[in-house]
Formats: sequence, C-alpha cells, structure tokens
Amino acid sequence: MAGTVEQGQTSGNGTSSPNPQGPQAEFEVFNPATGQVIAKVPDMSAEQVAELARKARAAQPGWEAMGFEGRGRILLRCQKWLLDNAERVIETIVSETGKTWEDAQLAEISYGANAFGFWAKNAEKYLADERVKSASVILKGKKLILRYKPLGVVGVIGPWNYPLTNSFGDCIPALAAGNCVILKPSEVTPLTSLLMGEMLTECGMPADVYQVATGLGPTGAALIDQVDFIMFTGSTATGKKIMAKAAETLTPVSLELGGKDPMIVLSDADVERAANTAVYAGMMNGGQTCISIERVYVEAPVYDEFVAKVTEKAKALRQGVPAGPGSVDIGAVTFPKQMEIIEGHVNDALAKGARAVVGGKRGAGPGDFFEPTVLVDVDHSMECMTEETFGPTLPIMKVADEDEAVRLANESPYGLSGSVFSKDVARGEAVARRVESGAICVNDALMNYSALELPMGGAKASGLGSRHGAHGIQKYCQHQAILVSSLHLKRDVHTFPYNKRTTQGLMKLFRLLWGRGKRD
Ligand code: NAD
Repeated sequence: MAGTVEQGQTSGNGTSSPNPQGPQAEFEVFNPATGQVIAKVPDMSAEQVAELARKARAAQPGWEAMGFEGRGRILLRCQKWLLDNAERVIETIVSETGKTWEDAQLAEISYGANAFGFWAKNAEKYLADERVKSASVILKGKKLILRYKPLGVVGVIGPWNYPLTNSFGDCIPALAAGNCVILKPSEVTPLTSLLMGEMLTECGMPADVYQVATGLGPTGAALIDQVDFIMFTGSTATGKKIMAKAAETLTPVSLELGGKDPMIVLSDADVERAANTAVYAGMMNGGQTCISIERVYVEAPVYDEFVAKVTEKAKALRQGVPAGPGSVDIGAVTFPKQMEIIEGHVNDALAKGARAVVGGKRGAGPGDFFEPTVLVDVDHSMECMTEETFGPTLPIMKVADEDEAVRLANESPYGLSGSVFSKDVARGEAVARRVESGAICVNDALMNYSALELPMGGAKASGLGSRHGAHGIQKYCQHQAILVSSLHLKRDVHTFPYNKRTTQGLMKLFRLLWGRGKRD
C-alpha cells in the first residue's frame, strides 16, 4: 500500500495545504472538531501515480486469476476484520471528519461490512456469462455470449463526507470483479483509505491490488490519465472537470455528484414520522450527506404542526466534539470551506426575509461547527432552496398543494434523491414518481442507499451512471460480445465471390423475413 502517514504535532484550523519543500511534498490532515493537525500525508506527483499504475498493472492478472471464490474469501475476511476493528476504524473516521461516533458506525461501518458480504456473494452472479438468443435466422447455429471481463485498473476518486462508504465503498465491487484499484481519497480525509489498505493486507490481499494515491486535485487528475475507468464521487463542478479530462484518453467515467434533495410532506402524512425523518435525514452527519434532505415542501394544512415538531426536535440536538458513543448528535463541519457556503446560504436567506426558528449561526470553536438550523418563510429566491448547502440546515416552505410541491421539487438542476410523506402510500408513490430524481423514498429517506441490490445514481446534474446493483459491478468490466460458430459450411453463401443468383436469392430471403405485409 502506498501513502505512509506521519503523525503531525502542530495545530491549525485550515484545510489541507501542499508543502512543496523537501523531497516528498506533503499535506496536513486536520481534526475539524478540534482544529488540530492529526497527520501529514504525501502529496503524490503525476510520476508517483504513474508508478502506482505500473504496479497495479503487474498485479492485476494474478488477482483476476484468483477467481471469484479466491477474491471473495479475502473480502469476507475483511468483513470480519471491519467488525473486529470497528472501534479503531470509527476513531479514524471521527478524527478526520469530526462526525459523531454513531454517524461513523451506522453509515460507514455497517455499509462497509454489508458491502463486503454483498459483493463477495453476488459478484459471480452479476458477472456470469450471459447466453443471448437471436431471433435472426441468419445467426442460426451461432452461439452468442455477453461476457464481463475486468477492465484492468480502476481509479476511484472520493469526497470527504464518507471516507469509508463513498470512497473505499466503491473500490469493493471493482476489486470483486478482478480489477486492481487506485483510490485517490479526498485530501481532507485520507486516513481511513490508508487504514483500509492495512486491513486488506492483513486479510491476505496480494500487494499492489489496492493502492492509495494521496494528494490534492492534481493527483486525481493524474490518476485519470493512468486508469481504465474512473469512479468519481464529489461535487458537480469537479465532476465536469473529471469528464473533460477523461475525454482526452476516452476513459469511461461514472459520476456520483451533488444534490439538493427535496422532501414533500402531503396533508395526509404521519406528521410525527415526517418531522423525525426530516430532522434526522437533514442533519445526520452534520447534513453532509449527498442524499441529505436539503429542503422541505409542506402542504398548508399540516405546515404549522410540522414546523412546530421539527423546531422542538432540532432544538433538542446536542452538538460538540464527538467523544465516544452517545456523546453528541451533531458533529463538526468537516471541510472548512463548506462552513462559508453554509453560512452564506443562511445569511442570504435571513437577508431576504427568512426566519431561523432554530440555530442560524456558527457554533463555538476551536473546531468548525454550524448550529443545527431550521429556516422558515423561505422561497426559491434564496440560495438555501436552490443550491447544495451540505450542512445541518433545514429550510421549510409552505405549499398550496402537491402540484406546487412537485413543481418546486423539480425546479432544480439536481436530481439525486428525495422523499414523499403520505399515509396513503399509493398517493405517496404516485407523487414520488413525478419527482425528477435517480432515487426516491416514500415515508422514508436515506434508506435506499442500503439497498445494494438497487442502483443508486443521480438524474440531471447529480450524476452519470450508478453504483450498486448489477450495473454497479458490470460497469467495471469490458462488455465483450462473443460469437461462436459451431455449425457452419466451408464457405458462407453470402461471401466472395459475389454472384448475381445468390444476391437475388438473398434479397428474396430478406423480403420474406422482413418485407412481408404492408406499410400502414
Ligand atoms: P470535490 O468535488 O471538491 O472533491 C472530490 C474529489 O475530487 C477529491 O478527492 C478532490 O481532491 C478531487 N479533485 C478535485 N479536483 C480534481 C480534479 N481537477 N481532477 C481530479 N480530481 C479532483 O467534492 P467534495 O467537496 O470532496 O465532496 C462533497 C461533494 O460530493 C458534494 O457535492 C456531495 O453532494 C458530493 N457527494 C455525492 C455523492 C453521491 O453519491 N452522489 C456522495 C457523496 C458526496
């Protein structure tokens, strides 16, 4: 595994910064809840990334040759390792993200453990040869096969909000398929990815099958030049750069990007469940989840009741430096620059007439905290309703009816996920189907991410392609179409030398096959 970590001693309160001095440039990793530097990590150059790719290419045939069973055995060992070492992994995640113990346990450990088992069990099924039947008589006697062959070396570029789930998580199916993987984690949170390398080595993964390219944006850009596929999770703005860069080498990409997920609360909703879900799905992980509830539309008859319940529940949330299980409900803002965005959206809303019924400003330092915030009297002239906030904020808007709710929900460049609440599940599902998004929940939120059988990908500016399900592993493979001719003549009739009789005979055959009947 590449990328060694040095423990840093100095303290600071910024984001990672490159250090061009010395033989190996490094950047610092901070604990955003305390502002302290917790490690220094190599900022890898393009040459170093190319070297990782050379090693990966050398290791890949051996890894592929281990077969699904051999690879699956290692993945299942990792599943157990993750639970045996859960406290250490959670501490690492918490230290670099500032998230709560529970957010790391529920959304990262459980995801990772589930995913190891899922891909170990299902990779072979999803990637088995598919026998295809053709209706065309000219293909009679030929065997048609769709085969999934690992691409070779997959590059995964990840964000900072879920270092295990959203960065390392996407490596698991790529590895299960027989690829080597180079992971470029976010420069804000590289430590979990490095720890995952330790886990894989301990669990018997051969050298160089999984490598970590620590670094900033340019390290990610260099990775695109070296690999056969890029799985990217991050902002829509960076996603566009990734796609443009990948176009230079015609490298296929899968993009999991930003969102502005709406929640629609219909007048016949279970308001208590809707309010609990809004507060949890809007603020767990400090609201730093791609599929967080980012805005709520409530039908007028239940608006006051919903706002009252959300206000009471959000006021009760405890925020602070995470200190073990049960210590706080809301942790820190992981990425210092995100703080400016959150504060900007809240201030913009307040300046335009919104009210903060809970929170509304930064929390006490030295770490980076933003108070759990509930905004009312909001509308679509405000950034908090139209741009991704990615913080513990919940703007709530009153709407006249479901048509207005759907229209506003769709008035967004994003289309990642969302949710609809109604006791009439048929009505809830009908409204959900009108929301333009890659995923949608009825009387729930976030849970679709745990359904590894179901594709998860964004519509509109929220992404391209998907993770999970059959496509979530088939995308890491060359789809090779194989035709095997077993019953054949010495010379096929349509081939050289051309002669008039055969050509006319074939035309008769084509007319018989495809030309019968009249045009309507
Ligand atoms: P980001 O786009 O700033 O960075 C993501 C990664 O891209 C980082 O590793 C970064 O170093 C790298 N990068 C930056 N510039 C690059 C370049 N030019 N070439 C190659 N790599 C480059 O995103 P972020 O701030 O780390 O993450 C937050 C965003 O991620 C939010 O928008 C969130 O919605 C999104 N996200 C989406 C999903 C999803 O599944 N759709 C999941 C989690 C997060």
